[in-house]
Amino acid sequence: MVDERIAIYPGSFDPLTLGHDDIVRRCLRLVDRVLIAIAASASEAKSPAFSLDERVELTREVYSDEPRVEVVPFEGLLVDFARRRGARLIVRGLRAVSDFEYEFQMALMNRSLWPEIEVIFMAPASNYTFLSSSLVREVARLGGDVSGFVPLPVLRELARVYGAAVTGE
Ligand code: ADP
Repeated sequence: MVDERIAIYPGSFDPLTLGHDDIVRRCLRLVDRVLIAIAASASEAKSPAFSLDERVELTREVYSDEPRVEVVPFEGLLVDFARRRGARLIVRGLRAVSDFEYEFQMALMNRSLWPEIEVIFMAPASNYTFLSSSLVREVARLGGDVSGFVPLPVLRELARVYGAAVTGE
């Protein structure tokens, strides 16, 4: 049996940004498949832009040409979900020191829940280190141009929700 290396990349992805995409592409160089696991609860987002179904559909569209990326919704404990899916590697992006403390805590908690899981942190290209989904939502809501921050299908949907100004045209 081929022992495929599968990484799980969990998050809210409300919406997927080019920062997330940067991490996915880097990860594809290291493993056979990347499973983007979209959390059911939009991490307490004050005002979510997209429902879980919309986030899953949109992210699937972004990776429709990439057979090594699978996009799935999930709820419950991440390590249980990872185990069921045969993924022993959790990937998280680290943008700045401010991300570190929470990520480190979570990594150690996940490993105590399932000792076989490994967590890797990846740094995005430096021009994406300031980028977050919540900032994209906020700028889009205020009619700012977010075309440099999200993949095209996401831009299209943000334009539908918040108006054409978000495309910068
Ligand atoms: P969460 O709600 O769990 O923070 P997100 O969708 O915001 O989920 O992010 C998922 C993962 O992607 C997290 O590890 C986060 O640090 C990482 N991430 C988010 N934005 C970027 C970015 N611009 N560059 C690199 N990693 C990022």
